[in-house]
Amino acid sequence: MSFSSLGLSDALMRAVADTGYTSPTPIQQQAIPAVLNGGDLLAGAQTGTGKTAGFTLPLLHRLSTDPVGAKLTSNTSPRAIRALILTPTRELAAQVEESVRIYGKYTKLNSAVIFGGVGINPQIKQLKHGVDILVATPGRLLDHMDQGTVDLSKIEILVLDEADRMLDMGFIRDIRKVLAKLPAKRQNLLFSATFSDDIKALANGLLTNPATIEVARRNSTVEIIAQKIHPVDRDKKHPMLAHLIKSNNWTQVLVFTRTKHGANKLVEQLDKDGIKAMAIHGNKSQSARTKALSEFKDSKLQVLVATDIAARGIDIDQLPHVVNYDLPNVPEDYVHRIGRTGRAGATGEAVSLVCVDENDMLKDIEKLIKQTLPREVIPGFEPDPTARAQPIQLRSGNPGHRNGGRQGQGGAARKPGAGNGGGNGGGNKPRAAGGGNGGTGGAPRGNGGGNAGAPRSAAQHRSGGRGR
Ligand code: AMP
Repeated sequence: MSFSSLGLSDALMRAVADTGYTSPTPIQQQAIPAVLNGGDLLAGAQTGTGKTAGFTLPLLHRLSTDPVGAKLTSNTSPRAIRALILTPTRELAAQVEESVRIYGKYTKLNSAVIFGGVGINPQIKQLKHGVDILVATPGRLLDHMDQGTVDLSKIEILVLDEADRMLDMGFIRDIRKVLAKLPAKRQNLLFSATFSDDIKALANGLLTNPATIEVARRNSTVEIIAQKIHPVDRDKKHPMLAHLIKSNNWTQVLVFTRTKHGANKLVEQLDKDGIKAMAIHGNKSQSARTKALSEFKDSKLQVLVATDIAARGIDIDQLPHVVNYDLPNVPEDYVHRIGRTGRAGATGEAVSLVCVDENDMLKDIEKLIKQTLPREVIPGFEPDPTARAQPIQLRSGNPGHRNGGRQGQGGAARKPGAGNGGGNGGGNKPRAAGGGNGGTGGAPRGNGGGNAGAPRSAAQHRSGGRGR
């Protein structure tokens, strides 16, 4: 199938041609006609499937070809916000808005992105100047709503991108507040990687007779990624990583750690080895995160160390190497992590350094992806066969329960628990109900690095660096 059969305007076809894409991905083949039809859409797709163009292209088409859009010129003022795209994280918001600009460059529409962690005044100025398409994280959008600096009364199209992650992050109340301010007549598009009961409830309330599409889950991509487990003693992970990077001449490596503290420590250790590394996580300022990400994208930075949430949605074409320095607490995050490589058909390599403490986590992951991953012991790093598993240490002086509660995240724990990732940059979110685990609820995940124990409020959570 070619893009030309999808009925997109010439302006959009030119922009697509500039990107060099030759054919639409499966999600684009299905989502583009569905959105062009004007109806609501419920789409199951993950980052890496091409979903952003899947909603951006038809959205731009609809806005630019109707009489209002056709009349717009860059000087037309005031413009009204006609499309709103909500995303869970700042990074994703920035990337989505970049896509809007790339695909919309030959249209007369303009766009803006608003998220927290940066000054609000330039955003106010931009909004005043007039914006057609607004990409936002929920928290900062609410700030603008509270201050009366954004007008959502002319929204024609609403997109909730990575809706499951927005719910996991505790944004449901914010989303509802935003929905209450939108005109009743509009087109709604909901994208989600998973379909928990919460997502289904949100979709039921939001969407009218939606077209429903689901593209192959990441598992299909998993197959094109070479995955390996390197068994190693817990205190040999850092030298092993340095050895792998140096001996294989890896030049662009995304490394996942479970905690912010672990990310910082690893960066220091790698620096001592002469390996240039930076960390991104919820405690880093937005400018530090942006800098690290752009240097990494431009291949000026050899190693980017990230926690799960901070890395969510990172879109780097053909990232060759992903390393799980620590296995994630949530098996689904393994799939998200390794999905950073092998994107849009490229091959990639994902290696996991696994110590005896993480064997149960590995079992859960293998069960999820329905594969037994090959083990490869690196000479010189043979693990001690007599080593005993220890509780996973997530924070100095705060050992978590090894697997304690891993199956039991549910009910009451979930909403407040959603906030317990706030200050941690992820890695400790409760197992989402959507994971199908049910659970007995109550205690937040015991191994929630940083703040296991007291659940945080959504507001605390947001101020922890995401969404706002
Ligand atoms: P997304 O799932 O939207 O994050 O997109 C994942 C990656 O696929 C991005 O790097 C896009 O630039 C790329 N991409 C999107 N559409 C296509 C396409 N039709 N052909 C090849 N690559 C694409």
